[in-house]
Amino acid sequence: MRVDLKHIRENPGGVLPFEYEMDLSGIEKSAPNPVKVSGRIVNRAGVLLLDMTIGTDLSLVCDRCAMPINRDKSVRYEAVIAESVEDEETDDIIVCGEDYLELDGFAADAFILGLDSKNLCREDCKGLCQICGNDLNESECGCVTDDIDPRLEKLKQLLK
Ligand SMILES: [Zn+2]
Ligand SMILES: [Zn+2]
Repeated sequence: MRVDLKHIRENPGGVLPFEYEMDLSGIEKSAPNPVKVSGRIVNRAGVLLLDMTIGTDLSLVCDRCAMPINRDKSVRYEAVIAESVEDEETDDIIVCGEDYLELDGFAADAFILGLDSKNLCREDCKGLCQICGNDLNESECGCVTDDIDPRLEKLKQLLK
């Protein structure tokens, strides 16, 4: 979505709220549903501050047992919108000299960066048996899968 910066720039103390939905299903497979973006741009003493929340209902699979999980995820993103900046290394400054700002790219980047790298159906998910594939959350299969300490494993190989 494109927001008009011209008027808010000229209006110290002004607030520009926005709310819309975007589609990230093409770039993020865990986000097949519409992604809601809502927030506002505030002119605080001539400085434009952007504050937005990007959220959706994610379709994930558990990293351990592969069970589908639906999980609400929302990511907050705050930045200063500056017309020019000397230190472009800074993450939370959006440099925009135009009269309008296209929010989608910033919202999408912030959301994808904010996604969890690990997804579990529950904290103590036991996962699948590495031998028979049984879901260990549902039943014990009796396979001897006691996780072998990798250091012991190495020692065993050395002893051979
Ligand atoms: Zn699981
Ligand atoms: Zn098993």
